[in-house]
Amino acid sequence: KENMFQKVVSHAKEYGFVFPSSEIYGGLQAVYDYGSNGVELRNNIKKYWWASMVQMHENIVGLDASIFMDPKVWKASGHVDAFNDPLVDNKDSKKRYRADVLIEDLMAKYQGKIEKEVTKAQKRFGDDFDKEQFLATNPNVLRNQKKIDEIEAKFKTALEADDMEGLKAIIEENNIVCPISGTCNWTDVRQFNLMFSTELGAVAGDSNKVYLRPETAQGIFVNFLNVMNTSRQRPPFGIAQIGKAFRNEIVARQFIFRMREFEQMEMQFFIQPGTEMKWYEYWKEQRMKFHTAVGNADNYVFHDHLKTAHYANAAVDIEFKFPFGQKELEGIHSRTDFDLSAHQELSSKKLQYFDHELGKNVVPYVVETSVGLDRMFLSILTGAYTEEEVEGKSRTYLKFHPGLAPIKAAVFPLTKKDGLPEKAREVMNEIKFDHNVSYEEKDAIGKRYTRQDLIGTPYCITVDHQTLEDNTVTVRERDTTEQFRLPIAELKAYLDKHCSL
Ligand code: ATP
Repeated sequence: KENMFQKVVSHAKEYGFVFPSSEIYGGLQAVYDYGSNGVELRNNIKKYWWASMVQMHENIVGLDASIFMDPKVWKASGHVDAFNDPLVDNKDSKKRYRADVLIEDLMAKYQGKIEKEVTKAQKRFGDDFDKEQFLATNPNVLRNQKKIDEIEAKFKTALEADDMEGLKAIIEENNIVCPISGTCNWTDVRQFNLMFSTELGAVAGDSNKVYLRPETAQGIFVNFLNVMNTSRQRPPFGIAQIGKAFRNEIVARQFIFRMREFEQMEMQFFIQPGTEMKWYEYWKEQRMKFHTAVGNADNYVFHDHLKTAHYANAAVDIEFKFPFGQKELEGIHSRTDFDLSAHQELSSKKLQYFDHELGKNVVPYVVETSVGLDRMFLSILTGAYTEEEVEGKSRTYLKFHPGLAPIKAAVFPLTKKDGLPEKAREVMNEIKFDHNVSYEEKDAIGKRYTRQDLIGTPYCITVDHQTLEDNTVTVRERDTTEQFRLPIAELKAYLDKHCSL
């Protein structure tokens, strides 16, 4: 699977999806650029998200707030004091690690041992294998599971109590070593704030310090009244926003999974206090549907938070089975009135609405859905990457949902003569106003199909000599490689139908 991940990373670079930032200078860690196909895929994901929120819900409206905000925003939100990760330095290798990631990796190691036992037994018992029974009785499995449970319990207690000594004790008790030097010469575990800061204006100093927003949500909270009043909404209603966020992540790894500059798609849903569990369940279901409509449902799993963040009373992640493990893709949080009340207190401005049912002014509660655009991009890309063996021939292609594919159709003249290129341009003109299409005339048709497969184009349209006679073209479908003829006049409707989300 790790090997598969390496293949996806190389593929992303080779076919113009993702490049390391400033690559000619060696690449900037955890910062990436999107190439010609990458930017199309990103835009399609954004469009899909925006439509699912703003277009499909009468009571959700959009917002585009700026990255810089008054620093008081981050004081009220708790980010100045609590947006930390536990950090540990290795004195030998001079490498920094997140203590919680080291501990999670340790648990994953024991989980790996369990999976190995299962695979071994599956081979031995074949069809008679009863996995449930095996997990409940095999001594090796039970021993490893006990270890995981013990570590998890200690980990949870330490995290909840903000107990850095406790985290350090888990690292030491389990002889966790530095992955680079192989030694365990650690410094103390300490909290590290993840916000980037800079100075606003010409004079440097603390009084001009501003932060690059670490989440887009706060832009929504501080605009709550502006948006509610100008869009004539009242709770229950939502505000949706797509925008950049910045975090000085300590461990930046796994490609675009954890970046220092990334984009979030967040929606804050403002509701009457007391109704939060109803809306929390509603949004859990909606968000899962959103993902499984464009990806294989087996890859998405709900996972309740081990630790509920400082602002939430209920939180769940939608996790995706990435090649490097099952990890968070999206968070759904019941944030109560934590943020609005904190801003109300610090700004002395009322952030309330008049609730007719309750007969009084109230600070609304909030249920938020928050997904990383780049992380969703990675889930879509790894989910689409397919290697297939058909009749002794291997084929690699990206099995994107057609609605997300960077290019919907590629138009090919069979040869470069006999007026076929001109006819192919005519075909392009029929569809290019509604769909992103590309034109190619180099190389044999087979090679052109392969190139389009590699970037996930769902349809290839070939203009041949018959086209000149009857105005039909050959359409070749990416997944089945099947071909059929279609009148040019029907192409647009065909693509409309098959490439919609
Ligand atoms: P993680 O535990 O992976 O650090 P988080 O719980 O801090 O994530 P949230 O603050 O809930 O994440 O952010 C919401 C979403 O934003 C995440 O589900 C993820 O998709 C995305 N996200 C967060 N941090 C990053 C990052 N450094 N790079 C890319 N996407 C990110």
